[in-house]
Amino acid sequence: MTSTASKTSLRFFGLGGSNEVGRSCHILQYKGKTVMLDAGVHPAHQGLASLPFYDDFDLSTVDVLLISHFHLDHAASLPYVMQRTDFQGRVFMTHPTKAIYRWLLSDFVKVTNIGANSSLNDKDENLYTDEDLAESFDKIETIDYHSTMDVNGIKFTAFHAGHVLGAAMFQVEIAGLHILFTGDYSREVDRHLNSAEIPPQPSDVLIVESTFGTATHEPRLNREKKLTQLIHSTVSKGGRVLLPAFALGRAQELMLILDEYWSQNAEELGGGQVPVFYASNLARKCMSVFQTYVNMMNDDIRRKFRDSQSNPFIFKNISYLKNLDEFQDFGPSVILASPGMLQNGLSRDLLEKWCPGEKNLVLITGYSVEGTMAKYLMLEPDVIPSISNPEVTIPRRCQVEEISFAAHVDFRENLEFIEKIGAANIILVHGESNPMGRLKSALLSNFSSLKGTDDEVHVYNPRNCVPVDMEFKGIKIAKAVGNIVDEVNEALKLSGGKKGVDEDQDENIKEIDEGTIVSGILVSDEKNFDLNLVSLSDLRDHHMDLSTTVLKERQSIRLDCRKELVFWHLKQMFGDIEVLIDDAGVTVLHGDAHDKHHDAAKAKESDELELKIMGDIKLNIINDVATLEWSQGLINDTVADSVMAILLSVDSSPASVKLSSHSCSHEYHDEHELQDSEIQWKIRHIVRLLKEQFGDSLSLQMVETDTKTTKANGKPNYATATVTIGKNTAEINLTELGIVSCNSNPLKGRIESILSIASDLVAPLC
Ligand SMILES: [Zn+2]
Ligand SMILES: [Zn+2]
Repeated sequence: MTSTASKTSLRFFGLGGSNEVGRSCHILQYKGKTVMLDAGVHPAHQGLASLPFYDDFDLSTVDVLLISHFHLDHAASLPYVMQRTDFQGRVFMTHPTKAIYRWLLSDFVKVTNIGANSSLNDKDENLYTDEDLAESFDKIETIDYHSTMDVNGIKFTAFHAGHVLGAAMFQVEIAGLHILFTGDYSREVDRHLNSAEIPPQPSDVLIVESTFGTATHEPRLNREKKLTQLIHSTVSKGGRVLLPAFALGRAQELMLILDEYWSQNAEELGGGQVPVFYASNLARKCMSVFQTYVNMMNDDIRRKFRDSQSNPFIFKNISYLKNLDEFQDFGPSVILASPGMLQNGLSRDLLEKWCPGEKNLVLITGYSVEGTMAKYLMLEPDVIPSISNPEVTIPRRCQVEEISFAAHVDFRENLEFIEKIGAANIILVHGESNPMGRLKSALLSNFSSLKGTDDEVHVYNPRNCVPVDMEFKGIKIAKAVGNIVDEVNEALKLSGGKKGVDEDQDENIKEIDEGTIVSGILVSDEKNFDLNLVSLSDLRDHHMDLSTTVLKERQSIRLDCRKELVFWHLKQMFGDIEVLIDDAGVTVLHGDAHDKHHDAAKAKESDELELKIMGDIKLNIINDVATLEWSQGLINDTVADSVMAILLSVDSSPASVKLSSHSCSHEYHDEHELQDSEIQWKIRHIVRLLKEQFGDSLSLQMVETDTKTTKANGKPNYATATVTIGKNTAEINLTELGIVSCNSNPLKGRIESILSIASDLVAPLC
């Protein structure tokens, strides 16, 4: 094995859920891969304003989108992302999340559309339609807990997060870097769910929720007791109890508590005289989902299910209410109703109906987001606005209490989890600014002893749309494979390594002295970032899909001149030309060849001519199509270029005109003129070669005098080019292919080697 270290940076970019609870959406970018985490809406806002800041990021670049759980603040803008933006990535969630998501979002579409129609009557305010939801639903892929998917080198594994049925934490791995995203998580074993797991693989980066900041929950049993006692005393006094709850998740947990309490205290509660209702059509629809996935819940509920052979989510003491029309409000009762934050719908209607009664109780059990009615109600206002008519206010005399059953970790649980994960970089999300800030300070002071060491813990609490860049030492490890292992062993011996490299045993990694060179080919797998070091001769054995290849170039053009002309020009340029095929006898230029040509042309439909030029360049001409084929290389490419130039210019060359007009004559009257035009042609090509090498540093002074006069005067024909690179200048005699002057030796050497290639090319002419 061999390794190289280079710094690479991971970018975290929050589009929502940074310094707020709601519209969770985070972007991770590393090594050219982009992962998006969650696509929620903000419960305190409506329409487009409830979305994460999607306009601030190019969603078409996202490779994978992972949805942690079905709650609206994590999943409700997914159909918008999939149907109304440039997003083209793949979307994953767990099976139960997908099953519940469908019901939940169609309900969300209904509720938001009603809201939009009544307030704005603006169709654009609808984030998406039922059709969008249905179309996007089919494209969502599912992932099992503890299974790992690999999408173009992005590996991710789902772990139990507690919180709600189907909630997942995702550990993402890109090129050896591990990032854990908790989503919403709970470390408490409640009545139906297991607590969040610690992934076996350590993580470099932890993206963790901070909902409760530094607050600590009361013990679970105390809270249950408080809840049941408060409800019991309220109904005993003839009051009504409203428990606003999110339709799915915590509502089921509360019902498990209430159903048990009602069974155990039937007599005190008047033997069924105090009804408990759950006003949610959605929850009833989703009961089958909860039953289907009992195997994903904790031992306790699984035992209950096994022992009673009945669905523990079918409650003996709780009835479902489709809507308030069928509810007869005659005496004390307990109603669980959604939505949990009293923004609209059934829970809001009941609140407005019951809040003037002082015997009544509104019991908030979930987390209430800033800006919602639930949050406002906890301030115990004297009046609340009516949802149907904001001009009207309703007096509030009812009791308001909060007992949290929100399935989020408290500070103690969060800290314990964070310590177990041991990531050096912690990014706080899903929390209001103040609790999040307090959590950051608490974490920093907790890890203060590591400050300044290699294990220093960094805690980030970025705002939405403010990127966080984290540098990582990207260590590339390449596995030596095949014959090259011997070479590496040799290098190890030289540098004093005791053990050699064993192909199968990774533990035997030894450091080779820096500066020791082992050469081979690094074969990287784009998909999973694996690197193998193999010797060239082994390439085919170890990588069936790779082999050494000589690149062949091929170009075809249509000719509109005679083959004799082409051959003649090529011969002038390159001297000896090997004739491979000559059906028409065009290469036999003299005397009777002409007659042969006519005979052959008559006998054969196609008269093929195939020539080999400068050893490696094949020119084939059939009818009027010329095809040039050669193996890539500097000299070959240049020769091929020249051949192509001849093919293209052949009929416009003055020599061609002469040759054509005296096609049967072998006397070239003006030898000088013919040669001069070829010299110009040669210079043009040498200039091109120089131009390719020096680009704009090359300037030409074509001191090209009229050839006839110079010849007559006996003076040499002369053309120069000047190359200027900084202070260095070279003057080149293009006609004689020599350097006239040059003030820099390296430049001189470079030009000399170019000229030697050039002189090879044009040798027959010089
Ligand atoms: Zn949640
Ligand atoms: Zn949440």
